[in-house]
Amino acid sequence: MEIGVIGVGYVGLVTGAVFADLGNDVICADIDKDRIERLNRGEVPIYETGLDEMIHRNVEGGRLTFTIDVHRLVRESELIFICVGTPPKDGGETDLSYVERAAQAIAHAIDDYKVIVNKSTVPVGTGALVSDIIERHKRKSVRFDVVSNPEFLREGSAIQDTLAPDRIVIGAPNKTVAMRLLELYAPLERPMLITDVPSAEIIKYASNAFLAMKISFINAVANVCEQAEANVDDVAKGMGYDARIGRGFLYPGLGFGGSCFPKDVESFVHKSGELGYDFKLLKEVLSVNRERAPHLLGIIRKSMGSLEGKVLGVLGLAFKDNTDDMRDAKSVEVIRALLEEGAKVKAYDPVAMDNARSILNGVEFCPSAYAAAEGADALVVVTEWREFRQLNLVRLKELMARPLIFDGRNIYDVERTKRLGFEYHCMGKA
Ligand code: NAD
Repeated sequence: MEIGVIGVGYVGLVTGAVFADLGNDVICADIDKDRIERLNRGEVPIYETGLDEMIHRNVEGGRLTFTIDVHRLVRESELIFICVGTPPKDGGETDLSYVERAAQAIAHAIDDYKVIVNKSTVPVGTGALVSDIIERHKRKSVRFDVVSNPEFLREGSAIQDTLAPDRIVIGAPNKTVAMRLLELYAPLERPMLITDVPSAEIIKYASNAFLAMKISFINAVANVCEQAEANVDDVAKGMGYDARIGRGFLYPGLGFGGSCFPKDVESFVHKSGELGYDFKLLKEVLSVNRERAPHLLGIIRKSMGSLEGKVLGVLGLAFKDNTDDMRDAKSVEVIRALLEEGAKVKAYDPVAMDNARSILNGVEFCPSAYAAAEGADALVVVTEWREFRQLNLVRLKELMARPLIFDGRNIYDVERTKRLGFEYHCMGKA
């Protein structure tokens, strides 16, 4: 099929690469000229396992091209995927200006029947909005359909998630249009749900909000465990064995960050309010999440007293492991608070250092976890990178000025750290 992808961020780039890998002809366009130039030079602007190889393979095979010319993309594609950003505005509402701009560009160039597929995460009603914009601005009297096909990939495993999604949701105005998408996704042999456009739009928000709720739930339970001298990891395991509950997302820690969960939950609350429903449950999910970093900082203060002049090593900057994405990362909140209280911060992340440098001032960025630990009065684990689980704790202790760990992701064993002579604080355990 001839496919166009508008917006080559995490979602657009991975989507375009995977569609090309399935044998389609894919044109990707972005308004960011620099990003397109880099891609045309063979540079992949984001870190995602397996993405480099997949892009190069398909560019060489002539199935994947990059351009700033959205009009060409529209003319040469039968299916056009909108994958632009949908950031939050103050107050939680979704900023739809990028989607609107993409819709206008489509309207100006559309010259034949096209299926416009919205893959960006957008509030219910956006399919109708896109349809309306194209209808009002189109220069030729042509037909088109707008489909909602929300994306569920996770950064860090985006290629795998796109090749083998748990489900593919297709919100289409009629069966004929839905069949076009079914045909495209058929080679993946994954479960597909065909529904109407508004339901598909809500499925995405309801799913992310539910997962965020699981995270806040176990974090609230962690607070109770701390008071009751119980072990939240065991509580989560005990709950997770119940097939109705499941183990996923029951990991206590610093809470959720990143470019999706916080904004999507806020947006869902906002849209629900507009539609006349006060989603108090999700407001509380956000409130529990907001308390996580201050909670860890409280534990640090209680143990260390004044932080003035103290050296703190921070392990992990990205909002989660296996990504370089710093959007809404908990590290930013934690580090800024430490700096404000007069601490010296030495930080390390396996891949997010470049992105972190442009956000965080006054931090010493170190070449390794051991370098961040050297001379530190304490270590703070912020991101659950596998590499941190595998550190040699004996060596770490020798390098540190004081054997003190604050583990915001519960990656170490309490007994072992104690045996090795660390003072170890984590989440949800006495
Ligand atoms: P991103 O910020 O990484 O990329 C968006 C890209 O769109 C940017 O390169 C930007 O320059 C480009 N763009 C903006 N307006 C444009 C326009 N009018 N024409 C062409 N290009 C334009 O965003 P992302 O993380 O890829 O997310 C995209 C959408 O997918 C969002 O709605 C997000 O909520 C959703 N989503 C993201 C993830 C994720 O893990 N990142 C997962 C599922 C869904």
